[in-house]
Amino acid sequence: MTDLAKPFRTSLDEIAEIEIPEIELDHISLDGTRKWLLDMGTKNGIETVFIPEKSRGTLCISSQVGCALECTFCSTGRQGFNRNLTSAEIIGQLWLANHKLREQDNYKALKKDERIITNVVMMGMGEPLANYKHVVHALEMMLDDNIYGLSRRKVTLSTSGLVPAIEKLSLDCPVSLAISLHAPNNKIRDEIVPINKKYPLDMLMKSCLNYVEKAPRDFITFEYVMLENVNDSIDQAKELVNLIKNVPSKINLIPFNPFPKSGYKCSKKTTIKAFQEILMDAGIVTTIRKTRGDDIDAACGQLAGQVQDKTKRTQRLQLI
Ligand code: SAH
Ligand code: SF4
Repeated sequence: MTDLAKPFRTSLDEIAEIEIPEIELDHISLDGTRKWLLDMGTKNGIETVFIPEKSRGTLCISSQVGCALECTFCSTGRQGFNRNLTSAEIIGQLWLANHKLREQDNYKALKKDERIITNVVMMGMGEPLANYKHVVHALEMMLDDNIYGLSRRKVTLSTSGLVPAIEKLSLDCPVSLAISLHAPNNKIRDEIVPINKKYPLDMLMKSCLNYVEKAPRDFITFEYVMLENVNDSIDQAKELVNLIKNVPSKINLIPFNPFPKSGYKCSKKTTIKAFQEILMDAGIVTTIRKTRGDDIDAACGQLAGQVQDKTKRTQRLQLI
């Protein structure tokens, strides 16, 4: 960079480094989904997934090595927590995917200003709002016109519901918000999303309502994993309608992706359809998530990576 002043170059030499994330595995699924396992040092790894669709390309990014929140149906949660990613490691996933995809045969002919990655979702490993500072810095780089220039509407952060951080995000960097709801009442949510004991549903619903005012879209997305005989009955669908009735929202039903010793089964197709119908009849736009990248274990909740757990159960809640 000889166009920069020499003293500035010298000081950059001393304070900055340029490092590319190291790829341990790179898989392409039959449906075009591509997954990278990236080495994060000391035998740890995170995963980044690209999901191509007709009119968009979505990159699913990780925010932590592991997760301390211990949701019972989540493979990442079961592995424990190692550390937060830095903002460089978070934005590095976007940089790397962009470069690797441009080398892929079907994208080689694209012009430089044509985007392959049009959308980013913070839905990989980790709880993004438990790594607030680094995640927000990375989001700002994604949105900055001089860096990636993605639209706020097309960057989505998914959280299990850290209420104070949701409120802070609405002021600092209001991107599209998805809430991992997964239960229609506190009794079930306390059990499957333990952070609910700290921030129960009435607090969470209030913070969603406040967020909508600042959000780039005029609704919140609620994610709801379909677990057989846990949260998938008709009565529970009705309870869910009642719970979210004051929040402008859409619901995304996620068929549970099994992993060894999970102890759960995915709801039957007919049950998921019946559940969807109750929500739709109540006027709530409800989609059922298509599972992508199944053959390479790239589906939601299967992002296992490699996590050397550094926490004890009792320490985990203190990390949030
Ligand atoms: N920690 C954040 C983001 C990462 S998880 C959060 O919880 O929102 C991304 C999504 O995958 C969440 O909605 C999560 O609940 C869901 N998920 C986790 N395990 C899953 C599984 N086994 N099957 C289907 N979805 C799962
Ligand atoms: Fe963490 Fe999200 Fe998995 Fe819960 S669902 S354990 S918050 S990654």
